[in-house]
This record gives sequence, C-alpha cells and structure tokens, in this order.
Amino acid sequence: MLYVKEESHLAPEMVTCPVCKQKLLIQDYVTVGSEVVCTNKNCESTLRIESRRPLRVALVPYAATLDADSQPESYG
Ligand SMILES: [Zn+2]
Repeated sequence: MLYVKEESHLAPEMVTCPVCKQKLLIQDYVTVGSEVVCTNKNCESTLRIESRRPLRVALVPYAATLDADSQPESYG
C-alpha cells in the first residue's frame, strides 16, 4: 500500500490562549517543548507546547521565561 501524505497532515493547528482566549495558529514545525507567545498584544503570555495532534499548551509563568535559554517562537 502506497502511503500518500495528506496535506491536512501538515496544516497548522488552532489552540485557544488559556489567559485571554485568543485563538492562536500553531504551525506544524512547532514541536513539543517549544514556547510560543500569544499574539494578543495585551496578553503576550508565553505558552509551552505540551502535545501535538491534539494540540495542547500550558501557560509558562512569567518568571520562568526570564531564565529561558531559547527565544520563544515568533509569529508571522
Ligand atoms: Zn493570550
């Protein structure tokens, strides 16, 4: 059986910010453990990707982001 990669497999996933309820689009290349920042300028909470498909995020406390070695992923 030939495996055909469906385009939907690579589609970005939507998740709702746990703080402001803004809907966020998480690109497929954002892996588990990565951190993203809410696109809501009044929120800008840092969220860590806990799982993909289904997508789950966890709020990263502000203090924790100060010690982070890596920069959060930015949105286009
Ligand atoms: Zn938010």
